Amino acid sequence: MSEVLDTWLGRTIDCACGQKHEVPIRRIVIERDALGQVAGYVKEAGYREVTLVADEKTYQAAGVKLRGLLEDAQVKVSISVIRENAMGEVAADEEAIVQLLLDTPLSSEVLIAVGAGTLHDIVRFVGHRTKRPFFSVPTAPSVDGFASVGAPLIVRGFKTTIPASSPEAIFADLALLAEAPQAMIAAGLGDMLGKHTSLADWSLGRVLLDEHYCELSAQLTLEAVELCTAHLDEIAQRTDLGMLKLMEGLLLSGLSMLLVGHSRPASGAEHHLSHYWEMVLLQQRRRALLHGAKVGVATVMMAQRYASLRDITAAEAATRLAQSQAPSREADAERIRGAYGAMAEQVIAENFPADGGVVDSEALKARIASRWGDVQAIARAVPAPEQLAAWLGDVQGPVAPEQLGVEPELVEASLRDALFVRNRFTVLRLLRLL
Ligand SMILES: [Zn+2]
Ligand SMILES: [Zn+2]
Repeated sequence: MSEVLDTWLGRTIDCACGQKHEVPIRRIVIERDALGQVAGYVKEAGYREVTLVADEKTYQAAGVKLRGLLEDAQVKVSISVIRENAMGEVAADEEAIVQLLLDTPLSSEVLIAVGAGTLHDIVRFVGHRTKRPFFSVPTAPSVDGFASVGAPLIVRGFKTTIPASSPEAIFADLALLAEAPQAMIAAGLGDMLGKHTSLADWSLGRVLLDEHYCELSAQLTLEAVELCTAHLDEIAQRTDLGMLKLMEGLLLSGLSMLLVGHSRPASGAEHHLSHYWEMVLLQQRRRALLHGAKVGVATVMMAQRYASLRDITAAEAATRLAQSQAPSREADAERIRGAYGAMAEQVIAENFPADGGVVDSEALKARIASRWGDVQAIARAVPAPEQLAAWLGDVQGPVAPEQLGVEPELVEASLRDALFVRNRFTVLRLLRLL
């Protein structure tokens, strides 16, 4: 059980933000031997037959044991061990999705994901499309997506996030998490530190474009990242407390996305940079990097941009805004065609939706000038880039693009063009008007 998370389970909240929020997750267990509680829950919920989904490694690490526990409890179990693709990776792509569809007997009632983020994405999607609930058994505290709804899939070589389902129950076994590779633990922290810049980006949208904002979701997201930074030594040493706090942080962040029904609280410009790098690596058929490792590095870069805003006075900002030339829609479309290749039309549609959504840049510039005090307050709330880098360093996570093998040309291209990944206001969109 987790005090931080349990209060939210199964709840419907009439929120001050004007929305009704629902949390469909029914149980979250984060403790040593959480694996031992899966069978009990399966029986209690009245399921008789499940499909356990893992990859080669996670099947050995946890799948074999869980299968035994379920079978001992007279639950019928079928197994799907997702195979690597031609790149030697387990990816959430067509091959994996079809494999899971073929491996799942029609009589199976539940899918159980035993693995990290990618494996969950495959299961979350197939579970949703075959109307089966899914349970989450994370084998590494590497990403905040376990509790959320979106399934980022690679379809015909391009990544698209498809709305799917959140898990019915989550069983995070601390002993199992502590055995995860160091890089995955560091990636989990990287994904969490990104909340500092994603929350700032959301606040910019609220202040400058009157975007819908949920205090509750934002507050929980901040609480989530602070749970992690308050226990860095414990996380670095993989103690039970460290793994508990990191996992609580990741799940709480997922839950805040679940509340508002989108990833705005947890994903801003730092994620857009990460997605851009991922897209280029995919096109060049290079090996994928851990999501949270990219996000951590990109967070330091975005924090540098927030830091640069702090020294600009209101008078300077007004002058710069008056002199700046906002790019036209045509110029942006041209840039997108240059940067996004075969994906360009999709990206243009994202940036210029038919139902409006186009911002009048002159009005926006006037708004920025008049709300400069708010912009600076938002920038001041973002931790210094040096602080973020130090936190990442504490868990041996990468802090600079070269440590990831992301070359300077790609960094430069992403700083210019990653803002088009999503039609969301971020510090990158602010800076090009300044
Ligand atoms: Zn993320
Ligand atoms: Zn709300």
